[in-house]
Amino acid sequence: MSEYCSQCSPFKEEGEYDIDLFEIALNLEQGRSESFICEGCNNRGVYKDEKGNLFLAKNENGETKLINVLIEEL
Ligand SMILES: [Zn+2]
Repeated sequence: MSEYCSQCSPFKEEGEYDIDLFEIALNLEQGRSESFICEGCNNRGVYKDEKGNLFLAKNENGETKLINVLIEEL
C-alpha cells in the first residue's frame, strides 16, 4: 500500500492520509527527528531542533535538504 503524507495526499480534503506531519511535529521532542517515506512527494522526515524550530527533510536529487517550516504550515 502506498503511503502519503498530509501535504500531498490526494484525499487531503477528507482528512485521509497515512503520515500526519502536523501530528508528528506536535509529538516530536526537541532535538529529535522522525523519518518516513512518502510515496507522493519528497518529504522524508520531520526534525525539531533544540530551540523548537521545525524542519522538513526533503529528498532532492538524492540529497537530503532541511527546510525550515512553521507548524501551522504542516
Ligand atoms: Zn507527501
